[in-house]
Order: sequence, then C-alpha cells, then structure tokens
Amino acid sequence: MESTRPIVVKVGGGADITFDSLYDDLATLTRGGMSWVLVHGGNALLTSFQERVGSPPRFVTDGRGKVSRYTDAATMELFAMAYAGALNTRHVAALRARRVDALGLSGVDGGLLVGTRQPSIRVVEDGKKKVLRDDHVGTLHAVNGGLLRLLIENGYAPVVTLPAYADGPEGAGGVPINVDGDTAAFRIAEALDARALVYLSDVPGLLRDPEDRGSLIHEIAGEAGWQEALAVGKGRMRRKVEGARDAVAAGIPLVVFQDASAPEPVSSAIRGEGTHFRGPVPVREAAA
Ligand code: ADP
Repeated sequence: MESTRPIVVKVGGGADITFDSLYDDLATLTRGGMSWVLVHGGNALLTSFQERVGSPPRFVTDGRGKVSRYTDAATMELFAMAYAGALNTRHVAALRARRVDALGLSGVDGGLLVGTRQPSIRVVEDGKKKVLRDDHVGTLHAVNGGLLRLLIENGYAPVVTLPAYADGPEGAGGVPINVDGDTAAFRIAEALDARALVYLSDVPGLLRDPEDRGSLIHEIAGEAGWQEALAVGKGRMRRKVEGARDAVAAGIPLVVFQDASAPEPVSSAIRGEGTHFRGPVPVREAAA
C-alpha cells in the first residue's frame, strides 16, 4: 500500500548533533499522513558512558585500516544503556511530547535486527597482530520487516536502535551484538520498500573537502560521480557512501545525506537539499 511506504531516517550519534529540528520535522510529517521509521546511533554517548565508568573505549584496527570499537561483554552493557536505554528513551519521549505515537525498539526486540556474531577478531595493536575474543560484533543478515509494518499500519512510529541480536550456536549466538548502523537502516528501508532513505549526520552531506562545509556535492550520478564519491569519503563516510550505493542499487527511489541539525532536515532532504545519490550504479563499483 502506497500510504504505508515509509521514509527511513538514520540519524548518527555524533556529539554535535541537535535533535529539535528533526523531532519537529518528524511530527509535521506524521501530521501530514507520512509514515517513517527513525533509526538512531549513540556513538558519542557510549564513549562518554565508558569514560565516566573509567573504562575508556578501545578502538582496534584490522590491519587494513578498518577501525572498530572493541565491544566485550562489559562494553555491551554500556552500549545497551546508551543506545537502547538513554537515547532511545530520550528520542521517544521528545516525539511523544510532539503528539507522535512513537515506540522504541532495539534490534533485539522481536528479532527486529538479526545478525551473525564474529566472536573473535584479528587486530593490529602497537604494530603487533593479536586475536581479541569476546567481541560482541557481527554482520546483519535479517530484518523483521513484518513487525515494523504491523506497528506502522497501526499508527505507531518506530524508533529503532542497536544492538542487534546474534542467532547461531551457543557461545556465539544468543547475545546482543553491535552491527553497522547505516547498513541496518538500509536493510530496514529495503525490507519496507521505503520511498526514501535519509542519512542525517553532523555534516551537510558528502563534502568534496571534509574540512570545508561549503564544498557540498549536491548530486552523485554517473560513473565519474560515483568514483568521486568513493574517493572523497574518508573513514566511516566511505562506508556510508558504499551504503548509499547499495541502497540505490536495491532500487530505493531517493537516497540522501543531509545535516541532522538543519531546519526540517528530512523534508528539506526530500525537497532536494543535501547530497542526492542517483542510479544507475556503475556495475564495476556495485560488484566491489
Ligand atoms: P554518523 O555517526 O553521524 O552516522 P559518521 O561519523 O559515520 O556519521 O560520518 C560522518 C563524518 O564523516 C563527518 O563528521 C566527517 O567528519 C566525516 N567525513 C569524512 N569524509 C567526509 C566527506 N567527504 N564528506 C563529509 N563528511 C566526511
């Protein structure tokens, strides 16, 4: 049903993001009869929780430049407190205060986000190769789209966050895991046949020069455009661009990066602000 084709909005967990314009915009969209799913991060709050309890985050690199947060069992407790506890509750309350029937869920609830755990990871620390065990991380392989549809069709606005749930054998599965939040948003958009996927973060979109907020690239299209997008996106932004490529390749009609703190961040993204990613995706890149 067209009326239940939602907009999926992913908002990052950066320290500098202010949320009021997002809450107001989502409330306006709701009043206009538009359905949406909000997927949110919690990176900065988790780091501050870890620092407050005297166990600062340990970021590890796999030797090929991919950096991730080592999430042992104690860190996962703080992870759930920051993401599914503090922030999810904060977002749901702020939306309810704007008369939106918001409902919070972590990926563990109702098997919403299910992944495969990778309990040990190979890392390079101080130039030495090591194997770290007890990591609560993994890769997403299933989304319970039916649960989200059920909620949306009954007038609820789902507010989704990590962790995901790891299935699989004892010792590996049966625990919450950290997965890539941008991928989770894309997989939710795919499962719901979303009309748009909007990524909000602390930058106005994809920048030609990450240090210059004025260097926004308005549109990514064609072979050269996609190549430039992959070249200028550094670190996590590169993964975000790869996610946008997967979303466009999967046929999501509108894929946009926009500043979370901008006025009407979702509506303005849909009207044309931010960076818009257009198909077709170059075949060679899609296979990468
Ligand atoms: P979030 O956690 O909010 O989803 P990320 O931290 O993953 O977002 O990505 C946003 C960050 O990517 C920006 O704060 C910026 O520092 C960095 N970045 C790197 N390259 C670029 C680029 N070319 N354009 C915009 N941001 C970039």
